[in-house]
Amino acid sequence: MADDQFLDANRFGFETRAIRAGQPHDPASGAVVTPISMATTFAQHGVGEHRGFEYGRTGNPTRKALEECLASLEQADHGLAFASGMSATDAILRRLRPGDHLVLGDDAYGGTFRLISKIIAPMGISWTAVDLTDADALAAAWTDTTRLVWVETPTNPLLTVIDIEAVAAAAHAHDALLVVDNTFATPYLQQPITLGADFVVHSTTKYCGGHSDVVGGFVAVNDDGLAEELAFVQNGVGAVPSPFDAYLTLRGLKTLSVRLDRQCDNAERVVELLQGHDAVSEVLYPGLAEHRGHAAAAKQMKRFGAMVSFRVGAGRDAAMRLAAGTTVFTLAESLGAVESLIEHPGAMTHLSAEGSPLEVPDDLIRLSVGIEAVDDLLLDLGRALDAL
Ligand SMILES: *Cc1c(COP(=O)(O)O)cnc(C)c1O
Repeated sequence: MADDQFLDANRFGFETRAIRAGQPHDPASGAVVTPISMATTFAQHGVGEHRGFEYGRTGNPTRKALEECLASLEQADHGLAFASGMSATDAILRRLRPGDHLVLGDDAYGGTFRLISKIIAPMGISWTAVDLTDADALAAAWTDTTRLVWVETPTNPLLTVIDIEAVAAAAHAHDALLVVDNTFATPYLQQPITLGADFVVHSTTKYCGGHSDVVGGFVAVNDDGLAEELAFVQNGVGAVPSPFDAYLTLRGLKTLSVRLDRQCDNAERVVELLQGHDAVSEVLYPGLAEHRGHAAAAKQMKRFGAMVSFRVGAGRDAAMRLAAGTTVFTLAESLGAVESLIEHPGAMTHLSAEGSPLEVPDDLIRLSVGIEAVDDLLLDLGRALDAL
């Protein structure tokens, strides 16, 4: 699709590319929406001569549209869609061989940590979890066989911000490749490839899909060789999204910027409320000047996102009561969609990290702020906090 002018970030802005990149009007009908192409096999005009598609696991037109669009939004040359964020993560981790070593942040997504520590490590791959904001800790983590550095920024659920350019430089100085999980920031707020990352990974289940109705994953890369390797894994393992899933994710991307702007607006108001409430002992939000990662966030992000975490001064039981005490904020795992969610990471999303370097404080609450009327959000949360 080299002739698709809408892929070009130098010519078209983010919002335009979200709607048009990789999505030419259907040549047969003029349809402005990419059709859901359900075919599992594609006619060949001669043996091995086809129009770019042979078999549905290997390639699919709807999936291709999603891959081109999201790669363009990340300003990457290549993109690959997967069945989930975890299968996208797995496709990258499969590059590692017995004896290899990997460095990851010490508050990585629980599922990423579980995959690395319980599934990848038994294959002979070692790992070190470090505070990636601490240059000395990172310097001490390198081994002769470190091949990969795994960064999330902002992190889940502590919203720590990692300086992508700095970690990319350190990784490359040690002949390691840098992966950035960009799920929380999305390409609207941050494009890690432009900051030196080798891979960008997404759970598109979150902001990219944006409506809590489709699970998906994505990897963006610039390097042709890495893209070819990933495509080989994508086809060889087969953890691919269905055409309908690809369509839903593509549909979600079109409104990503509009949703996220409103989500950031609402999150800023929620942060104000939390900061002024006696029941809250600490608010974790990269937009706050006193946040440890504020300077790095201001440097590499367009806005500060819509995830907000905070600690409840009265402790674990009060935090558990609060999580179950709201009505506009729904008590649920996941994040990034139009509806606001509340959860207790220690007992929910990060339960599998208990006793590990990634364990989170037990009085922590995480909010994913949605696009409801902000006054409803503030009233709901304020009431639940008052009741503690
Ligand atoms: C949800 C999530 C994942 C895993 O993605 P799935 O789509 O649930 O498989 C990975 N990283 C982060 C930061 C996430 O929030």
